Amino acid sequence: MTKDAIVLGAGIVGVSTAIHLQRRGRQVILIDRKAPGKETSFGNAGLIQREGVVPYGFPQQIGILLRYALNNRIDAHYHLRALPSQLAFLARYWWHSNAKRHEMIARAYAPLIENSILEHKDLIEASHAEALIRKDGWMKVFRTAARRDAELAEASKWQKEFEVSYEALSASDIARMEPNITESFVGGIRWTDPWSVLDPHALIAAYRSYFESLGGRFVTGDAASLGQSGSGWKVMTSEGSIAADDAVMALGPWADIATQRLGYAFPLGVKRGYHMHYSTQGNAILNNWTLDAERGYFLAPMNQGIRLTTGAEFASRDAPKTPVQLDRAEAVARTIFPIGERLDPEPWMGARPCTPDMMPIIGKAPRHNGLWFAFGHAHHGLTLGPVTGRALAELMTGETPFIDISAYSPQRFGV
Ligand SMILES: Cc1cc2nc3c(=O)[nH]c(=O)nc-3n(C[C@H](O)[C@H](O)[C@H](O)COP(=O)(O)OP(=O)(O)OC[C@H]3O[C@@H](n4cnc5c(N)ncnc54)[C@H](O)[C@@H]3O)c2cc1C
Repeated sequence: MTKDAIVLGAGIVGVSTAIHLQRRGRQVILIDRKAPGKETSFGNAGLIQREGVVPYGFPQQIGILLRYALNNRIDAHYHLRALPSQLAFLARYWWHSNAKRHEMIARAYAPLIENSILEHKDLIEASHAEALIRKDGWMKVFRTAARRDAELAEASKWQKEFEVSYEALSASDIARMEPNITESFVGGIRWTDPWSVLDPHALIAAYRSYFESLGGRFVTGDAASLGQSGSGWKVMTSEGSIAADDAVMALGPWADIATQRLGYAFPLGVKRGYHMHYSTQGNAILNNWTLDAERGYFLAPMNQGIRLTTGAEFASRDAPKTPVQLDRAEAVARTIFPIGERLDPEPWMGARPCTPDMMPIIGKAPRHNGLWFAFGHAHHGLTLGPVTGRALAELMTGETPFIDISAYSPQRFGV
């Protein structure tokens, strides 16, 4: 079979890219070893984070680093045995998180985030997925006045520079908005622009159906079989060998395997994360996507139940699950909201695909014609899939991308 483009990886980034290529008249085959949206894009907190202009940095202060070193926190956990292999990534991540560099990165990252809602809106409408979306933002709640005031000051700075919108919440605002939250938080921030997704996997399934309605096809196959064929590319699939002029690697946390085979040594890392769904006790209702900021876990009222998601686990991508953060977070969550029993047979785990400068890699492969990269979206892949897909498809088809994507170029890592 011969097509115009192969997109490898059917998470939010791959599906969105496939749609935008197909819309531009390319005949596209989307390939994954699993059904679309079954990996990292399946289990996230479901937020389209318009407020997320400043990507999550690595702590700089020695005191905080020492607290993390104790390895007993909810928001971060590490496998000691994984540290040697992660050290190069972590050192570069720490370096890029220095206040000055972090601010420069936020400015370079902002165009992606600023367009995140608009680009999702386009695909949500086209795929008739409105029923999966809520448009009422999300909130962070604080246990101490010091943290509340520091975060409000930061929010005010971001509001001026990046036009994000928020409301400061008092303790009584929180009590009114969430009558079933039992802990008395001193206040909070409600980011008002973001949208939330009631079932991220269902959203990707809707995007996949839309892609197919445009004439695109999904086929199972293994990206490891990708090879050059004449001036293009070919890959083995369940339907035999498929050749195309262009191949896009949208392999999320597995991108390192495929890119290394072709001679590109990106300094990638992963931050693993877990989720579990819970019933609620009695008639308790959680109205808002809520982050318990000083403990570092999220409660999201999704279709499957209350989804509790955890922060970062620094471990090898393929090491067995160690959901200690989930256990710790659940114990705290039970003290703030009447969650009931666990609804999943075991915790879900995914791996956020990370780069040390906190920005994704989007663009043409430096040394191969017809090869394109779209991965490394870290904490914001659900948010940024459609923006990435559009910008990359525009680049691939000779248009000028609607945002400047030079800051996300693969070349910045000197590969
Ligand atoms: C706990 C948690 C909470 C999060 N919350 C949010 C949030 O609220 N908002 C947000 O924007 N982001 C969030 N994220 C991040 C977000 O989920 C990811 O950034 C995003 O899903 C990455 O999408 P992707 O398409 O790059 O990767 P993936 O969804 O992992 O897709 C990659 C695909 O490649 C396929 N693949 C890999 N290897 C091969 C191979 N050899 N052959 C064929 N196919 C292959 C996989 O099967 C997979 O389907 C969260 C992440 C976690 C873990």
